[in-house]
Amino acid sequence: MNLILLGAPGAGKGTQAKLIAKKYNIPHISTGDMLRAAVVNETKLGIKAKTFMDKGELVPDEIVVGIVRERLLGNDCKKGFILDGFPRTVIQADALKKALAETGKIIDVVLNIGVSEGELINRLTGRRSCKNCGKIYHTVFNPPGKENVCDVCGGMLYQRGDDTVETVKNRLKVYCKQTAPLINYYQKEGILKTIDGEKPVDDVECAVIALLDEVA
Ligand SMILES: [Zn+2]
Repeated sequence: MNLILLGAPGAGKGTQAKLIAKKYNIPHISTGDMLRAAVVNETKLGIKAKTFMDKGELVPDEIVVGIVRERLLGNDCKKGFILDGFPRTVIQADALKKALAETGKIIDVVLNIGVSEGELINRLTGRRSCKNCGKIYHTVFNPPGKENVCDVCGGMLYQRGDDTVETVKNRLKVYCKQTAPLINYYQKEGILKTIDGEKPVDDVECAVIALLDEVA
């Protein structure tokens, strides 16, 4: 099963990706990890990518697509894969389609984990980290025993700068703007499935598996 996972920051994409990878025994391929691996292994494309990353620039589409393509040829992808963080644009989606077609593959399903903006803001702005040991809490979903104090080490909890309401709203706006055309693209292809991501994690997992069992 060849799968693309879409979901805003805070939608629980990482959690679901791990569960799906385990259940269907297919690799979870995140673009960030893949780029870093290509750079570390000094593949031809990795070396090219590094020149952009070192300058703090975005790695151009053709290099990213090339790295994804190499990765999908790996033996562990024979039974399928979960792509996370790629494609990000319609141009990348088209390039991916072409690259897969060369090896006789298609994307079977694009899973979109839908969560409303209000809920995403609640989730992302409630995050607190321990200054001392780094343990992560949530004011609503996983609060410490004593407000603002770490259960493990007694350290003070703090809110990361990028978890404030303003920055979260901005991140979500960027995500929506970037992803909306992709949602349209895969809807037209008839392979987009949206899951209600506001339910508890276990319920979301059940819904995802029921849906994927249908596709597989
Ligand atoms: Zn701590």
